[in-house]
Amino acid sequence: HLVGKVAIVTGGNKGIGFETAKNFAERGARVILACRSETLGTAARDEIIAATGNSDVHYQHLDLSSLASVRAFAAGIIKTEKRLDILVNNAGVYDMPNEKTKDGLLLAAQTNHFGPFLLTCLLLPLLKTSAPSRIINVSSMAHRRGTVDLDNLNAEKETSETFSYSKVYANTKIYNILMTVELAERLKGTGVTANSLHPGVVSTDILLKIKSGWTRALMPYISKFFKTQWEGAQTSIYLAVSPEVESVSGKYFADCHEANV
Ligand code: NDP
Repeated sequence: HLVGKVAIVTGGNKGIGFETAKNFAERGARVILACRSETLGTAARDEIIAATGNSDVHYQHLDLSSLASVRAFAAGIIKTEKRLDILVNNAGVYDMPNEKTKDGLLLAAQTNHFGPFLLTCLLLPLLKTSAPSRIINVSSMAHRRGTVDLDNLNAEKETSETFSYSKVYANTKIYNILMTVELAERLKGTGVTANSLHPGVVSTDILLKIKSGWTRALMPYISKFFKTQWEGAQTSIYLAVSPEVESVSGKYFADCHEANV
């Protein structure tokens, strides 16, 4: 059980994040849904409270595409929370317009990587004082299509017609894994672990609302083979709660097993 523990789930308002947060609430944790939209965040909070009977579930505003928002969120957490046992960096975007954030980065790059990276760094002191504690980074098997290529995270340079959102997405998911490995190395001996995962191919908005390309055309036919959102949350939950992985760090998981990157 997670009674007395505090968990943050980014993007907890829907999809895999919602099911992950709901499971933590079922186990008795104090759960913070770190979400962009207050309407969706509070609706998810109310649904989880009604389903689990755990009223210690909260919405807190976080927009990962704004470094100022990440800083404000982390400052709020450090002020109000006495501990942090589980941080699930779950939120992500895929099919986004080629737009820059106010911080000058591509939206997908900042939402999927730079925002979670800053958030994790800012929350490390609280995770350390709460150790043993766990960081879970939701990556994707899509990282295999990416390259370690910082150039295409820079919005200024991305004007060519060959620019591919899926490439940017894949790269951000490599960075999730690299961040995990580096964190695990630096956190050795602190009692804070960091692991990354591929949740499977899951029936959520990130796939179902893809706006273009062959994936969009095939969606009506292939989506029935996807995992449910509950199934998609199982590896995040396993990494957050299972005693089997209490001291495992720096690894990549799929289907609740360590997997090859
Ligand atoms: P959803 O689209 O259902 O959920 C994505 C979540 O991210 C939403 O809660 C969304 O909130 C949130 N989010 C998006 N942008 C921001 C932002 N700027 N700030 C804060 N939150 C934000 O998709 P999934 O549940 O599938 O995605 C969860 C994770 O799983 C992602 O990291 C995704 O890359 C990964 N993944 C998913 C796979 C799949 O098959 N579904 C496969 C592999 C990896 P909002 O409602 O505000 O947009």
